[in-house]
Amino acid sequence: MTDYQPQLEWATEWLQQPRSCFIGGAWHDGAGAVLDSVNPATGEVIGHIKCAIEDDVDLAVEAAREAFDNGPWRTTISHQRRGQIMRELAGAIRANLEQLATLETLDNGKLFTEACEDVTNVADFFDYYAGWTDKFYGEVNPVNSYFSYTRRDPVGVVGQIIPWNYPMDMAGYKLGPALAMGNTVVIKPSGMTSMSLVRLFEIFDESGLLPTGVLNLVVGRGQVGSYLSRHPRVDKLAFTGSTVVGKQLVRDSADSNLKLLSLELGGKSANIIFDDAPDLQYAITRSFVAMFSGKGEKCTEPTRLFVQRGIYQTVLDGLLREDANWKVGDPFDPASNQGAQVSEEQFNSIMGYIEIGKSEGARLLCGGTRNTTGSNAKGFFIDPTIFVDCTNRMRIAQEEIFGPVLTVIPFDSEEEAVAMANDSVYALAAGFWTNDVARTQRVANALQAGQVFINRYGCYDPASPFGGHKQSGWGNECGIRSLELYTRTKTIWYAN
Ligand code: NAP
Ligand code: MG
Repeated sequence: MTDYQPQLEWATEWLQQPRSCFIGGAWHDGAGAVLDSVNPATGEVIGHIKCAIEDDVDLAVEAAREAFDNGPWRTTISHQRRGQIMRELAGAIRANLEQLATLETLDNGKLFTEACEDVTNVADFFDYYAGWTDKFYGEVNPVNSYFSYTRRDPVGVVGQIIPWNYPMDMAGYKLGPALAMGNTVVIKPSGMTSMSLVRLFEIFDESGLLPTGVLNLVVGRGQVGSYLSRHPRVDKLAFTGSTVVGKQLVRDSADSNLKLLSLELGGKSANIIFDDAPDLQYAITRSFVAMFSGKGEKCTEPTRLFVQRGIYQTVLDGLLREDANWKVGDPFDPASNQGAQVSEEQFNSIMGYIEIGKSEGARLLCGGTRNTTGSNAKGFFIDPTIFVDCTNRMRIAQEEIFGPVLTVIPFDSEEEAVAMANDSVYALAAGFWTNDVARTQRVANALQAGQVFINRYGCYDPASPFGGHKQSGWGNECGIRSLELYTRTKTIWYAN
């Protein structure tokens, strides 16, 4: 994809120093435990994080509060200047792309090429939302006798909590719209992958472009997020993570100040290959790549593959061919297709699901094993694992595994495929492959999912809304929809 080069020497040096929070325009050591950052491709400790405690979170929230209530970001800085600053930040991110991507690969285990795409996305999100700073209109309401109009006001202090799988992308599509609409932010990455955000905040700091307290970073594990989610002086919380934690955040909001919530939660997405798929070989290749890229640690990955009976064996043969050409290994090696699972804990959880699949009677087409080839010996690598002849009621078809494990389920009719696809507590994404125009409308309408892909699984663009239905979440991020998440409508009546 790119000619980008890993910056390993630089990263080794940079990681010498323990890293921590950025609060009110200054670096601030959290007073909590010191956490190891581990490279899951080697099992080695690469750096340390000084975790925040509640007092540190209080400081960050107060810095954001002060910046929102009394700072220039939402008031004296013009909308045009706000956009210009965001574009300049996008440029600074691009200028440091290799460093950010190197840290991400070291911390998360994903391919360096994937990390480069992630960092490109952050910059693209800043550019995209920079364009909205002066284009978000209110309305004049057609009322009788009075003059009534609406404004979109920023929400205020926003807490943002993100998981370990896409720290960079999520920083982009959470910080971008929050900033564009004039909010101030306290963001918490996963304690497992904090380094790329620390470096991102250094880049913001070095740019000198943002007023004090507009963006704040707190690092640490779940309890830091939990304190932020219960904080009475946080006006809104944007969360990406598991459905279990998402439900807890709803309770936290109710028990604290009824803060607004947007939730991007789990998924168990369906991918249906009909026997009239326009290009069956492409459908197979793309289904495999969408499933196993990012080592299967993606919320939208097509984990349930429904295949029409007449082409079932052809698809299984095709998946095996893809598997034979797929290399699991060193995430910095350009020849690798799949890196290491993010942590030992996640690795164990995935291996546990593989055992569950076997005990449920699913047939293993390939994989199911730890990959310890050569330099993979000490890392948390898992071969692409494909269970076939599954039923949709198996646990491996219902529960989110979040790893390189695919379940393949045969079907006979369109109705049966759609019914099984919708038989899930999740509804994040779905895809299908067909050449029948009438079917494209019928099935796209019938599928329960926040986004539906036809004849190409997995599309992504800053301009296109992204979100889940059912237990996959509340609200849409990206595109114009995100502006709604980061503003509130105020109606003003004027009598003359
Ligand atoms: P998770 O346990 O829910 O963690 C997500 C974030 O919340 C992390 O920063 C975590 O900190 C923090 N956290 C944990 N417990 C918390 C609590 N009680 N209160 C507040 N914050 C808390 O999710 P995960 O298992 O790490 O990540 C994978 C999940 O994310 C999957 O379910 C996946 O589907 C979902 N996901 C969804 C999307 C989407 O857009 N829909 C995208 C990506 C991932 P620590 O990690 O430091 O503990
Ligand atoms: Mg790590």
